[in-house]
Amino acid sequence: MTFADLGLSDELLRSLDDSGYSSPTPIQAAAIPPVLMMRDLIGIAQTGTGKTASFVLPMIDILAHGRARARMPRSLILEPTRELAAQVAENFEKYGKYHKLSMALLIGGVQMGDQVKALEKGVDVLIATPGRLMDLFERGKILLTGCSMLVIDEADRMLDMGFIPDIEQICTKLPKTRQTLLFSATMPPPIKKLADKFLSNPKQIEV
Ligand code: AMP
Repeated sequence: MTFADLGLSDELLRSLDDSGYSSPTPIQAAAIPPVLMMRDLIGIAQTGTGKTASFVLPMIDILAHGRARARMPRSLILEPTRELAAQVAENFEKYGKYHKLSMALLIGGVQMGDQVKALEKGVDVLIATPGRLMDLFERGKILLTGCSMLVIDEADRMLDMGFIPDIEQICTKLPKTRQTLLFSATMPPPIKKLADKFLSNPKQIEV
C-alpha cells in the first residue's frame, strides 16, 4: 500500500516524500479513503499511530478542491491541549507546504490579539482548544457557519478535562450539513453518545 493508492493529490505526495514517509500507517490506510469520500468517521486509535496525518492529509485535499469563502474558516480541528493543538498546526504546515491554505492556532495562555488579527484577515482552518474557541466566539470574533468539516480529536481526553459541554455547544454553531470526524483512544459511553448525536452514519475504524 502506498500513499498514491489512497487517492491523495500529487502535491501531498510530494510533501509526504519530503517528510520521508514511505508508506501509510494502518490508520492512515483505513481512514484516508472514506474521509476523501466525505464520510463521517470514528477512529479508535492512540497517539503515535499516525492519526494526525489521517485527518490532516484528506482535509488539505478537500480544502484545496473546494472554493474559499470570503474570510470564513472552512474546517475546525478541536484538540484538548495547547501542546496537541500546536503539534497539529505543525503537521498542517508540513503537509500543506505546497498548498496556499491558511490556518489560525487558537489556544489559551497567549494573548488574543494576534489570533483576532488572523481571524479578521480570514483563514481556511482553525486549530483550537475548546475554551479559547468559545471565548473568541462569545466575543463575536469567529463565524463558524462556513465550517463544513469538524475534527474532534482525543475525545476521551476532552471528556476527562470536562470539555464535552463546550464541544456540544460548538457543534450546534456549525452547519448541520458537514463532515465530522471523531478520534479517541477509547469509547466510553459519553463519547459514544456524543458521536451518536453529532455524527451521521459514521464509518468506524479501529487500529
Ligand atoms: P501521531 O500519531 O499523529 O501523533 O504521529 C506519530 C508520529 O508518526 C509522528 O512523529 C509522525 O510524524 C509520524 N508519522 C506519521 N505518519 C507516518 C508514516 N506514514 N510513516 C512514518 N512516520 C509517520
